[in-house]
Amino acid sequence: MKIGIINEKLDNRVAIVPDLAKRLIGESNEIIAEKGCGNSALYTDDEYTASGASLGSRDDVLKSSEIICSVVPLEIEDYKILPATAIVVSSFQPYFSLEKTKEVADHKLIGFSMDMIPRITLAQAMDVLSSMASIAGYKAVILAANHLPKYFPMLTTAAGSIPPAKVLIMGAGVAGLQAVATAKRLGSVVQAFDTRAAAKEEVQSLGAKFVEVEGSSDDKAAGGYAVEQTDEYKQKQREKIFEEAVKADVIITTAQLRGKPAPTLITKEMVAQMKNGSVIIDIASSTGGNCELTEDNKTVVKHGVTIIGNSELAAEVPNHASQLFGKNIHNFLKTFLKDGKVEIDMENEILKSSCITSKGEILYGK
Ligand code: NAD
Repeated sequence: MKIGIINEKLDNRVAIVPDLAKRLIGESNEIIAEKGCGNSALYTDDEYTASGASLGSRDDVLKSSEIICSVVPLEIEDYKILPATAIVVSSFQPYFSLEKTKEVADHKLIGFSMDMIPRITLAQAMDVLSSMASIAGYKAVILAANHLPKYFPMLTTAAGSIPPAKVLIMGAGVAGLQAVATAKRLGSVVQAFDTRAAAKEEVQSLGAKFVEVEGSSDDKAAGGYAVEQTDEYKQKQREKIFEEAVKADVIITTAQLRGKPAPTLITKEMVAQMKNGSVIIDIASSTGGNCELTEDNKTVVKHGVTIIGNSELAAEVPNHASQLFGKNIHNFLKTFLKDGKVEIDMENEILKSSCITSKGEILYGK
């Protein structure tokens, strides 16, 4: 199979790094890479050539790829150029927007969406949501430390003592737990909370305090995802958050509800009461944000609080993010690509859940 890699116009990452290109070639495939595709992630054209890949223009890649992999979906006009039988693999987030999915279906291409892979043990090695969320959690803390006009660790010096920064993490899933671990490593005092009962032990095992709000709804059948909470719980949660938010120097919010807008956890009234100079990093900004004053992809200062809305923080660690994304892609490709041949078994749970278009039809939601 001829597998294409393009230069992502909207992202610093690349879906297949040179090492992976070499492995895929060793598995009886060909690789065609757009010139410069790895530049922003610090992978050079020479490394792609050395891996055995051929280089070409964007048009060359699009015209000849039988499988094309990208971190974010291609541009609308790109789908028109792909061969009629091509397989496109990317993160389409169809529950959020169907625009690109429709385009893939209109051109009768087979579309696989990496973010639709079920969160089962068997699919853990293909889970781009987890590998990217973990990087985002780490980067959120680094970004917060950079914007905070204070130290993170406690210091006792001849010039006086500095107390540790107080960090509050909302949503202790993959991103939240990595943020907890990173903020602990930087020496701050960390608290976290989540509606899922399982999160308590995970937060405590990292040495942070779990903020308890009783009465949350938790559904094991939700596949590891959180569920919408009752109005009574939301009220209790708001009061508890208010109490903790006004003491915090940094708040990192990661709370998401699959296929729905992110829950509002920090109101504008809370921000107004927060300490001058404190920082909020809202990782849930692309789905509406956890803070009422968040603006997606912007840094704003409101009531003296710096609020950064960024759901793509993994793209700011592009070298390692591409390496991990590629590993996930490789493990996924292996489910239908054997010895250079495509064999799609739609009874396979992973393929069935992630295949969003086939034969001109949108399969997502069916
Ligand atoms: P996510 O990105 O959908 O949400 C982030 C966190 O926000 C979650 O922990 C969620 O419970 C929390 N949250 C949602 N609403 C909230 C609210 N109102 N208040 C506070 N917190 C709220 O989730 P995620 O991080 O991608 O994954 C969540 C969990 O799924 C993981 O911690 C893990 O247990 C499980 N998981 C399992 C697998 C697997 O088995 N393959 C893979 C990945 C994740």
